[in-house]
Amino acid sequence: MISFVVSRESRNPSRRWSACQSVVTMESCPTGAGHDPPVNRRRPISMRSSVASRPAFSRILCFALVLSLAGCARAPVGSRHEIVLFPAREVVTLDPLHPRVEAVAIAGDSILATGGLEELKAAFRERSFTLDRRFENRVLVPGFINQHEHAWLAAIVMIADIISIEDWVLPDRTIPRAVDGADYRRRLADLVSRHARMNADDVLYTWGYHQLFHGSLSRSDLDEISREIPIVVLQRSMHEMIFNTRALERFGIDKGRVASMPEPARRQTDLENGHFWEQGLFGIVPLVFSDLLAPDRYLPALERVERYWHAAGSTLVAEPGGLVSPALKAMQNQVLGDPETPFRMLYIADGKTLVARHPASRVIAETEKLFGSAEGMTRFLPKQVKLFADGAMFSQLMQMRDGYLDGHRGEWLMQPEVFRKAFRIYWDAGYQIHVHQNGDAGLDLVLDTLEANMKRNPREDHRTVIVHFGFSRPDQVARISRLGAFVSANPFYPVVLANRYSEVGIGPERAEEMVRLGDVVRAGIPLSLHADMPMAPGRPLLLMWSAVNRGTVDGNVVAPEQRISPEQALRAVTIEAARSLRLEDRVGTIEPGKLANITVLAENPLDVDPGTIKDIGVVATIHEGRVLPVR
Ligand SMILES: [Zn+2]
Ligand SMILES: [Zn+2]
Repeated sequence: MISFVVSRESRNPSRRWSACQSVVTMESCPTGAGHDPPVNRRRPISMRSSVASRPAFSRILCFALVLSLAGCARAPVGSRHEIVLFPAREVVTLDPLHPRVEAVAIAGDSILATGGLEELKAAFRERSFTLDRRFENRVLVPGFINQHEHAWLAAIVMIADIISIEDWVLPDRTIPRAVDGADYRRRLADLVSRHARMNADDVLYTWGYHQLFHGSLSRSDLDEISREIPIVVLQRSMHEMIFNTRALERFGIDKGRVASMPEPARRQTDLENGHFWEQGLFGIVPLVFSDLLAPDRYLPALERVERYWHAAGSTLVAEPGGLVSPALKAMQNQVLGDPETPFRMLYIADGKTLVARHPASRVIAETEKLFGSAEGMTRFLPKQVKLFADGAMFSQLMQMRDGYLDGHRGEWLMQPEVFRKAFRIYWDAGYQIHVHQNGDAGLDLVLDTLEANMKRNPREDHRTVIVHFGFSRPDQVARISRLGAFVSANPFYPVVLANRYSEVGIGPERAEEMVRLGDVVRAGIPLSLHADMPMAPGRPLLLMWSAVNRGTVDGNVVAPEQRISPEQALRAVTIEAARSLRLEDRVGTIEPGKLANITVLAENPLDVDPGTIKDIGVVATIHEGRVLPVR
């Protein structure tokens, strides 16, 4: 059975790629077979609506061809694009009507047809086409979507020397985790002595330290390792930094500078121990970043991030909260805006900063002003915004209903009254709201606010996204479902944190059930997965593996009932990620009429031993019709 482009109703223009408009028309039907009138096949459907409600496409024998893709950046000039047929060992389409086929036909930037190879050849015998056999022993899946990343955070991982709590596999190196405090200190001392031989004048930046795994670390500990080399330790969460004396001197961080900070920030500093966290970092981050992210480091690091995401099979990257300094944005435009970029990068405005900076009446206008600042292959998703509830998962600063075992307290990233005000502004303007949340009390705030707004000003298809989804309770899962919200989860949290958090701060009952994705899919809630690199490596296959297995870095499995199936995991890094960004009309499945975004794999993630999903080789991607081999 062949599936062709049959119809495309006009869509909301805001959902199209800017300046890219596909025009699809029906050709006369050569078989004369009758078919259903054009149906609204692509109306937004949630996972809960039934596939059976879709039209009986098996009866449609008549096909239409993409006639022109006028004005599209990558469309060759001319009336018709050349057709390229890609046979494969298997094509996993995630199209419910034709879930597994042999081949896909691509014309220009779009998918023209899927089906059996001989059927497609026969269908195109009247037209010239190219048969491209390079993937005939490979498996094609819908192009992976990295639903939540930050280019500058990922770049820091490429720049800093990594000593972390889990293994890191980068294009040029693999860095095993530091298993305990002794291991951490030995590795750091080795790094420092190598650094002293090679570039003694530069600051040594290292990322990945975590006190709950590696023990305490202070300025004097670092001074013991070196008094000559400036050392800056970036904590695993990126929410804390520790300096040695030489580094404090290098950046001019002294009593005077700390005294000049506003009171709440000053309380989150400990100059004696060289430790700065949360708001205490705001005053010194510009000093550190002007060195750490200077153009001669940041530009090549962005190139490496781009190669990393491409090698992971990504064909689309979204950055929620994409509001960086103008200098960093200019560099991102230069690298990620370039037409050779193997994916599009889509920013979602950071509502937290906008609401803090502008009066309520100006917030929407100021949000929309941002949209022009992204260039080339990057752009803002209109009418979407990111807000923040509670603190960092990797620093145990989330807000927990039943608190922490050691009595410490969580933090709010937006104070609840500010959060409620911001939510209302964007809700009433019809925005889709993505909310960062980690603790179950943080989730209560989000769901209470959503429910109140639904009562006050009901909206259909609002797709409010719960982002990260660290801790939740079963009653909250039912509530998410009832309120029609989505979940975008970080499935790597239990892999690295469940065991240690069982012992420290949280306790086993709550820690083992963190990121309860089994309950989410059983409740029929639309689920996507994300990395938020470096909160997890930005590799969709690793995220799938994490959600399917819940195997920890220590080798045990936590809360097996919260695992999801390989197919649910594949959907969560493709079509469901697309749906959470309102892009399901354009990407996320291999279906006629959608953009030709495909990830080419060595094995089928739905058929391999689930324990090996993360090890499947990524051979290439196809991005909007361009074949981009992974080198
Ligand atoms: Zn977040
Ligand atoms: Zn994030």
